[in-house]
This record gives sequence, structure tokens and C-alpha cells, in this order.
Amino acid sequence: MNAFEPAIAAGRIDASLMEVNAALAQIRDVVGEAGWLAAPGDIEPYLTESRGLYRGATRLVVRPASTDEVSRVVALCAAAGLKVIPQGGNTGLCGAAVPPGDSPNIVLSLSRMRRVRAIDPENFTLTVEAGCVLADIQAIAEQHDRLFPLSLGAQGSCQIGGNLSTNAGGVQVLRYGNARELTLGVEVVLPDGRVMNSLRLLRKDNTGYDLKHLFIGAEGTLGIITAATLKLYPKPVSHSTAIFALPSLDAVIELLSLARTMTADLLTAFEFIPRFGVEIAARHVEGVRDPLDAPSPWYVLLEMSTSARDASLDAVMEGVFAAALEADSVTDGVIATTEQQRQAFWKIREGVVEAQKGEGASLKYDVSVPVTSVPSFVKAAIEACRQISANVRPLAFGHVGDGNVHFNLTAPIGDDGTFIATAAAFEDAVFDLVASMNGSISAEHGIGLTKKRALACYKSAVELDVMRKIKSVLDPQMLFNPDKVLMSPESGAAKAGAAISERVRHAAA
Ligand code: ZN
Repeated sequence: MNAFEPAIAAGRIDASLMEVNAALAQIRDVVGEAGWLAAPGDIEPYLTESRGLYRGATRLVVRPASTDEVSRVVALCAAAGLKVIPQGGNTGLCGAAVPPGDSPNIVLSLSRMRRVRAIDPENFTLTVEAGCVLADIQAIAEQHDRLFPLSLGAQGSCQIGGNLSTNAGGVQVLRYGNARELTLGVEVVLPDGRVMNSLRLLRKDNTGYDLKHLFIGAEGTLGIITAATLKLYPKPVSHSTAIFALPSLDAVIELLSLARTMTADLLTAFEFIPRFGVEIAARHVEGVRDPLDAPSPWYVLLEMSTSARDASLDAVMEGVFAAALEADSVTDGVIATTEQQRQAFWKIREGVVEAQKGEGASLKYDVSVPVTSVPSFVKAAIEACRQISANVRPLAFGHVGDGNVHFNLTAPIGDDGTFIATAAAFEDAVFDLVASMNGSISAEHGIGLTKKRALACYKSAVELDVMRKIKSVLDPQMLFNPDKVLMSPESGAAKAGAAISERVRHAAA
């Protein structure tokens, strides 16, 4: 009996047992022993995701070694009606790479596709296969005196195919843009098995629809990205990094504007952190210390970089500091004088993420609003959440230079479980506010499973209709990553209530 027999018997696969058996045998021939994982112990790591919020089921993981193998596997799956769940480093935060628990599927891992196909330092381009780990790509660029600027917490294990499929952001978007803006071309295997090669080394290409953008950020629902041509930049040779203390959120935006104006747009990062964030990072993360003598309501981590050999960035930073003091935008600050100090500043920012676990349950909203609306958004969101629970501990931090706020809530001290039970009310309050300010309910993490119900509520009916039409044209059998991103129209969209179970699972991590 093959692993899919019960599903065939129950009519959940639109193919006969003989057809599925034949397809599986052929898939095994295509990927060989090295690409075929069917033992429960081997499959286990592919069933859950990084936060442990979702657990799926599959009977088979295939690991093709080339685009040709991906193409042949997908064509065989399409013929037999088998669903395909593409998976990269499996570090996503929205459950997009988890196989469904209730429908027969094959997980297609890109992890064996790790070749660097071409590097052209003079053209500032690098072409890599989807399974290349982000940190390895950064290292390859560096060996050629170049920078690949995509940088995020999971870079040691996330894969570029997943970064593109989720249009990853991170800490340098302000200067270089997100994954979408760093991509010149993609190679994609379509749900019928055909290969679409758009790996062009061009900055200018006005030949009709820019198809690569359909697949970037589509979370594997429209095609499997198997390779990409990426943009490289001159490697920075000097940095200047500072932490400033600020009296208010309005001052944060004033400092951002001042710094952009005064630094010839050399800013690479502009991250804001509230006092509560610094406190918990110092409490729970080893090596994190208060950066300044006196506590301050808000902090900004500001970094500039340049590839110019003789630039004195610290002098520029001192100029920003002086002007901001003069304007009362900052009350104190410190500029890193050593690489060790620079690392210590970044450790505070990274520690904020890590430290939340130590404070009990939390709810997390990755949202964006126009940069100038960040202060009013954060103030109103804190107010709205305190109306729901007076002692909730808000933690708003993140990439303020991009208008991207990680608006998180930590349970009140001594919480009896009410906090998580109220999750739906918090989410509605935060997302309603985001929507009223023309913001986005998912700034950089994507939709996956976590936010698909919310997407159905907050994206316009016309946009949702266009998305569904694109999906149905490219994947008429609904084989690729089913039930991710888009909900089926018949399940409708209900704001409160419908999403509660997902929110609670989200909150449990
Ligand atoms: Zn982030």
C-alpha cells in the first residue's frame, strides 16, 4: 500500500491508485535515493515551523537537486493531482511552509539546490539557486568585495528562495529595499511543471508585465522559485553607529528626518526601541547593558555606512547629534568607538526580540503605516489596548525608518490567562487602527496561515478578486501551497471570532 492510499480511497485525490503509484515511482526515479525522504523520523523536521505554532502532515519529502528535477517532479504531481508544498529553510513566521494537516501532499524542499550559478562583480550581480543560505550569499558577495544587503535574524539558516517567496525585509530596508527590490530576475517552476526563466542581468527591462514580481512575495502559491539573480552593492568599508535617547515618539520622526537630510542618505538602519524593550533585554539577555546613564522613554539605534575610503562618518554622526540636541529631538547619545561597542548596540536591538519570551505570553503584530503616522499609530494603539486590558505591557519597536512597527503586547504581570483569551479584541483594535491609517497588516512577515483570515477582512474586495484570478490562471488545480495566503471565497471573511483559534495559537509561542 502506498502512503496516499487512504486519501485516494476517500476521494481526496483525483487520480486512481495506479496513477498515484506510477507517479510516485517516477518521482523516486527523478530525485534518486538522496532526494527521497519517507521515513517518519526523516520527515519530522519538515512538519513544524520555527515558532512551533503549527504542525502539519505529509508522507513524503522530496529534495530535487536541480531545476530540471523540480520541473519533472512537479509535472508528475500535476498529472496525479498531488499537492506540492515548497519549503526553504523553514524559518518563516506565518506558517506558509507548513504542509496542511488534512490533505495529501508532497513537501518539496529546495535545500539541495545550493549552486552559485554566476557572479559578475563588475555588473554587480549574483545568480544563485534557491537553497543557498542567506549568510552564505552575503559571504560570497563579500569575497568579491561586494555587499548583498538583505540581513535578518534567521540569516544563518533561511534560504534565498524563501526570502524571495516571502519578500523578506530586515534591518537595512531603509537604504537598500526589501527582497523584491534586490532581485533582478527569477527562475520559476510553474504548477504545470514548465520552467519560466527570467534570470536577466538587467536593471532596465520594460518588456510588458514584470512577471518576477508575481512570484516574489507569493509564498509559493503561484510557482516555485528555483534560482534568482540578485543585485550587489559596493561593500561598505566604514560604519558609524550610535544610540540616542529621545523624549517622545514625535522626536523619533524628527531625528529620522534630520538624519536623512544631514547624512546624504547614508543611513542604513534606523531602529526604535522603547524603554521597556531595553529593560527586558538587559534582564533576560546575557551581555546586554543599559546604553546610557539615565533611562529614557525612547531610544534610536542609528547606523550609517559608506564604501568611500576616506569618509569620516563619525564626524557626520557628531553633526547629527549636535543638531538633534539643539532641536531638543534627543537628550543624550553615544557613538560607538569600537566594533565591540557597535556589536553591543546591535545586541540590545536583537535582545528585544529574544527577551519577550522571558516576560510571559505575548501577542505580535508586524504592521506598517506611513512614517509620519508612526507616533499617532503607536499612541492610539497603546491607548486602545489599555482600554481592553489596563495593565497590558505594550512593546512597539522596529524599523521605524520604513514605517514598520513590530507592535507587540506582553501579558500583564500576574496574568491569569485572560490576556490570551482577549487576543481577538486586541487584534481587531490594532488592525482596525492600521486600516484607518492606510497601513498594512503585514509589513514584512507575510500572510501564510497566520494572517489569511485578517487579509480577507482588510484587503479590498477588488484586490482579493484579482489575486484569486491570478492564482486560478497559474494554478487551476490549486496544487501549490493550498490554503495559504488566500482563503477560498466560500469560507467568507469574518473579522472577530473566525480568526481566534489562529490568534491564540500565534500567541502561545
Ligand atoms: Zn523586523
